[in-house]
Amino acid sequence: MSALEIVRIPALRDNYLWLAHDTATKATAVVDPAEAEPVLAALGARGWRLTHILNTHHHPDHVGGNTALKNATGCTIVGPRADAARIPGIDVQVGEGDTYRFGDAEAQVFDVPGHTRGHIAYWFPESRALFCGDTIFALGCGRLFEGTPAQMWASISKLRRLPPETRVFCAHEYTQSNARFALSVEPTNAALQARARAIDEMRARGEATVPSTLGEEIATNPFLRADRPEFLAAAGLEGLDPVAAFGEVRRRKDNF
Ligand code: ZN
Ligand code: FE
Repeated sequence: MSALEIVRIPALRDNYLWLAHDTATKATAVVDPAEAEPVLAALGARGWRLTHILNTHHHPDHVGGNTALKNATGCTIVGPRADAARIPGIDVQVGEGDTYRFGDAEAQVFDVPGHTRGHIAYWFPESRALFCGDTIFALGCGRLFEGTPAQMWASISKLRRLPPETRVFCAHEYTQSNARFALSVEPTNAALQARARAIDEMRARGEATVPSTLGEEIATNPFLRADRPEFLAAAGLEGLDPVAAFGEVRRRKDNF
């Protein structure tokens, strides 16, 4: 097994696509290609050949480039078994407990329903890399389009158990507005205050704020903190169980 070289590709308005390249075998995957052109340009600039697409869920800003990339490269498309009918061109269906290997890299797959009912995440332990689509964002989480607060809390809790040094490669640059919301919920969190300042500085310099680490998210992301007494106290949610607290924080964000 070997560590992946991971490249960020901005696309559409605020999406990030991720190229994952295994230097030993030259296998290259793209995670959630919103569109084909920037992927082909990034591959061409590095002399890499696309061998795989890894999809986390069916939304157009995550699968929009599937067909064009498969036609251009003959790559293998991997996606959620639970949502296979909504993943264009899917070749390999994966779900909870599966491992998937491309090149020398091996991913463990988690079912993480909530944002969509068939959402999955790919964890590459050797690379300390988690590709979680629209489940956990830097300082946020995906909207509950097809799932319940109980499902999303269970999904996030599952990912929260991974090592804190895990890098969280989410699919959108929403961090600065997420930080404003997070501060409105837990204004007393010193780590969050410091992170929000750092994010403002990074964005002012035009820098990306993704990936973060799981440890940073555990310390500062309101959607990972719905079972922490200090969070519940700051948010005025004392006495609520984690699912109810998570659901209330998600409702506040929807109306923020
Ligand atoms: Zn989505
Ligand atoms: Fe998305």
